[in-house]
Parts: sequence; C-alpha cells; structure tokens
Amino acid sequence: MVTLFEGAFAKLNLTLDVLGKREDGYHDIKSIMQAVSIRDDIEIDIGTGLPWSLSCDKEDVPTDQRNLAWKAAEVFCDATGKDPDGLAIRITKRIPMEAGLAGGSADAAAVLRALNKHYDSPLSILALAELGARVGSDVPFCVLCGTAMAEGRGERLRKLPDMPDCFFVVCKPEFSSSTPELYRQIDESVIGKRPDHQAVESALIAGDLGKIAENLCNVFDPLVTKDHLEINYIKSIYNSYGSVGQQMTGSGSAVFAIVESFEYAAVICNMLKDNYPQVYICKPV
Ligand code: ATP
Repeated sequence: MVTLFEGAFAKLNLTLDVLGKREDGYHDIKSIMQAVSIRDDIEIDIGTGLPWSLSCDKEDVPTDQRNLAWKAAEVFCDATGKDPDGLAIRITKRIPMEAGLAGGSADAAAVLRALNKHYDSPLSILALAELGARVGSDVPFCVLCGTAMAEGRGERLRKLPDMPDCFFVVCKPEFSSSTPELYRQIDESVIGKRPDHQAVESALIAGDLGKIAENLCNVFDPLVTKDHLEINYIKSIYNSYGSVGQQMTGSGSAVFAIVESFEYAAVICNMLKDNYPQVYICKPV
C-alpha cells in the first residue's frame, strides 16, 4: 500500500462576470481566478485491497460518491483505465465551506493531481484540468492554480502572470448564500457594473497591485450585499485598516481584502476575530 499526500488550495475571484444562460442550463462566466494558501490536506491510500472509502475531520462533508474528491478519483480511473485496487481518501478540511472558495473543487483537483503523479503523469496538466470539468466547473482552475482567466463554465482556462506579492485576508460570515438562487436572481436582473477583465490583466502584466485592487469586480457581490449588510461591515473594517481592495468571492459569502503587508493583515484579523471566528490570512499560490 502507498500513501499519497497533496495540498488542495482555495480560490478567490478577482473578477467574476455572468454572461448568460446556456441551453444545457449552465451559465457562461468570465472570471480571473487566484489560488490562495488556505488549504485542505488530502491523503490517499492506494492498494488497500478494500472497497473505496472517504473520511473527513469535519461534519457535514459527504463521505461517499457525492464527495467531489471521490468523484474525481472515479473520473481519473475511468479516463486512464488505472485500477488502484482499493482506495481510501482522508480530507483534513480548513477551507470554509459554502463560502465561494471552491473547497470541494480544490479537494477534487488535489485528488486528480495526486493520482496523476502516482501513475507517472499519463495526462498533461492541461488534459488533467480538462478532465476536472467532468467533476465540477471550478475543478479545472483548481488543478492549474496560480492566476488564470476562466471562461465557458470555467473550463476554458488561460494562464495569466502571477499576482504581485501581497497578502489576502479572507473572512467567512456565518450565513451562506445559495449559488443556484443567485444565478436565478441574476437571470432576472439587469447587471449594473461589470468587471473590466482587461484592466486587471494589464495590471497583472505590469505587477501593479493598486490597479488590480481598483478593478476588483464580482457581479454577485451587490446581489448578496443587499440582503446581508454585514458584507459592508466587513469591508469597512478592511478599508479602515489598510486594505487596498475588497470584495466577495464567487457566490459568497466569504469576503476578501488585498493588503500589502502581513502587519496590516494581522491588524484586520484582530479587529474581526471576535465577531468572525472564520478569518484567515493567506498568500497567492
Ligand atoms: P464554490 O466556490 O465552488 O461554490 P463553495 O465554497 O461555495 O464552492 P464547497 O465548500 O465547495 O462550496 O461545498 C459546497 C457543498 O459541496 C457542500 O455543502 C458539500 O455538501 C458538497 N461537497 C462535496 N464534496 C465536498 C468536499 N470535498 N468538501 C466540501 N464540500 C463538498
């Protein structure tokens, strides 16, 4: 039996636009995504000789075929014809759930990377990302990590220059928002401000953190904020203590700030931690 270890990294949306509903029921999006160092740990025992199993240190996470990590292992074995002869997946969960941080997708992507490495890379990283789309829309990006433009359902990826050196603060309020409900609302509303992806891409090329921060834009942010004003409260703390830009990620409810130094990040955490136990400092990865 062999045990594999792999990190699963959360994602933030620097920009997120919803372009329209497709015939298959999914939405076309356009988003600049950033992987960050908030991570789950994935361990996989291969060759247990037993039926597949999955465990997680956190309640509420499905421990059967519904878990995206399990699905990823199935999809990998189907696509490559590999038979691990018994597989046990263990997840140590740190990425807050239902936060817009793609925690489940990150776990799935980590399983794909780990299995691909174990079998001496039968798939290129791009083929592996493409395979991830069978598991979930954010999985391809989570396979790739770094900074990338995602289009289509999220499966069409283009690598962008790395984010300039900075820290992120990520705060997950108690409430969670429903992604399907938000897509329904967005179909019925006129989107006000849309992201200028080109401005963010140019700022990434120039390594201009201020310009990236200035152009953060997520079309879900105002929709969630109108029903949950505490998003504005969290942003006001960010803004008062050194953030250069702040925004909700994905369909929420986590809100992040970009800060230039660890000292600013630490002060912000201190200001929020009594009301918000789920507050994290992380870096781009
Ligand atoms: P996204 O940004 O992709 O919308 P999210 O952060 O909002 O993701 P997740 O934390 O990924 O949401 O999980 C959403 C749901 O997916 C959970 O409620 C859980 O039932 C299910 N799920 C399946 N696999 C996993 C996994 N490995 N980890 C966490 N949740 C999982």
